[in-house]
Amino acid sequence: MLDDYKEEQKIVYQILKNAIKKDRLSHAYLFETKGNKNAYNMIIAFVKYILCPYNKTLKTDCGKCTQCEKIDKNIFSELKIIEPDGLWIKKEQLEELQQEFSYKAVEANKKIYIIKNADRLNESSANSILKFIEEPEANVIALLIADNLYQVKDTIISRCQIINFNKNQNNELDYIQKLQDTIKIPFDITEDTDLLKEKIQNVITFINTIENKKLDSIIYTNKLFHSIFKEKNEIIFAFDIIILYYKDIINEKINQKKEFFNNYDTDDIKNNNTLETLNNKLLISIDTKDKINYNANTNLLIDKYIIDIVRGDKVEEDSWSNI
Ligand SMILES: [Zn+2]
Repeated sequence: MLDDYKEEQKIVYQILKNAIKKDRLSHAYLFETKGNKNAYNMIIAFVKYILCPYNKTLKTDCGKCTQCEKIDKNIFSELKIIEPDGLWIKKEQLEELQQEFSYKAVEANKKIYIIKNADRLNESSANSILKFIEEPEANVIALLIADNLYQVKDTIISRCQIINFNKNQNNELDYIQKLQDTIKIPFDITEDTDLLKEKIQNVITFINTIENKKLDSIIYTNKLFHSIFKEKNEIIFAFDIIILYYKDIINEKINQKKEFFNNYDTDDIKNNNTLETLNNKLLISIDTKDKINYNANTNLLIDKYIIDIVRGDKVEEDSWSNI
C-alpha cells in the first residue's frame, strides 16, 4: 500500500499522493532511488494505486485484489516492466513496448510502463524512446528508475518529472522544515511600492539568469549583480530576497503553498532542481549572506556564490549542524 510509505518517504509520498488526488499525474516520472531498497516497492504501490479499480471507487488503498495480485506477479496486461537485456536496454525492447502500448488499455483506464536501470539506456535506445516519453498515447504513464541521476542521459531527464528518494528522507524533511522556520522576513515584503517591486524584480532576474545560463554567465551575472546592487545593505537585501525565493520554491516543491512569490513563474527552477539541490542552494545563499556581513570583498563572494549555485551541491557541514 502506498500509505505504508507515508512516514518513511514523506516527501515522495506527498508528491505522488497529491498528484493522484488532484488528478494531475505526469506522463513521465524519473525516480532517483539512491540505492534505497524500499524504493521499488513504493513505486509498485504507486502503480497499484493508479491501476487498481478499487482505489477509485472505494477511495481506499487496496493492494490485494485480483488486479493488484496480477501486478505483483507482473502478469497485468496494462503494466510492462523493462529491464536491461545484457548490459544495455535494447532498442528492440522499446520498440516492442511502443507497439504494445499503441492499443487502448482494456484491463484498466491507464497503461504504465516501468524502465528499470534507466541509466542503461544507450544513445540509440534512448533516442528510440524520447518521443514516446514526450508525447505518449493518451493515458500512458512512464516510470523510469535509476540509482543516480547523473548516470542518466540529459535528454531523458529533461522529459521527466524527477522524484528523489533519500535514505534518510524523514530526517531530511524535518531538517528542511526546521530550516524553513528559521527564515524570517527582514522587512515588509508586501509593502506596495514601485521601488520595492523593481528591486525584487531585479533580484529575481539575477537568479533566473544564473539558473538558465549556468556557468557561461559568470561574468555577465556578476556585472548584472553589481550594476544593480552597489552598497552592502543593498546586497544584503538582495540575499534576503534570494533566500525567500528559494524558500518559496521549496514550499512549492513539497506541495505546500508559496508564501511570497505567487505572481512569479517558478516552475522552471522547481522542475529543473531536485529538492536536495534546492535546499543546498538555500543553504549556500544563507551562508553567503552571513559572509557578506563580515567581509569587505563582495566581488569574490558573489563570483563564488554564482559558481556554487550553478553546481548546487556544496553543503557546508557546519551549517547543517547549526540548525
Ligand atoms: Zn487492488
